Amino acid sequence: MSNHRLQDAIDALKSTRVRMTPQRHAILEFLYETSMHPTADDIYKALEGRFPNMSVATVYNNLRVFKEVGIVKELTYGDSSSRFDCVTSDHYHVICQDCGKIVDFHYPGLDEVETLAEHVTGFKVHSHRMEIYGTCTECTKKVQH
Ligand SMILES: [Zn+2]
Ligand SMILES: [Zn+2]
Repeated sequence: MSNHRLQDAIDALKSTRVRMTPQRHAILEFLYETSMHPTADDIYKALEGRFPNMSVATVYNNLRVFKEVGIVKELTYGDSSSRFDCVTSDHYHVICQDCGKIVDFHYPGLDEVETLAEHVTGFKVHSHRMEIYGTCTECTKKVQH
């Protein structure tokens, strides 16, 4: 299912002459196969068994390369635990305030907000960020039982 997007990402990397290493490939593959928006630490824990010499710093460095190429997006939350999302179409995130899970939510981009913001403030607007907060279905169940 995600193979084709993974291949696109690999092609994008190749076109920038970034060398593909087994670690790099594994990190990318993990990102494209999960919907969990992992932290660098999550990725490290998932792959350390396969790559005993890999460190969290290696994972970070690779994520930074992916980010520069534009195949991965970093979601920062004001603390050290950035989460990473493989770039697909633009989408919004619904975040569970109990367990921190992030779920993709596809909704037409709110472009008119940007246009209006430009109008009102005179800024040249580049992007916007909207997040929706709540309690996920699993956490809701936990509370009930
Ligand atoms: Zn939850
Ligand atoms: Zn996402």
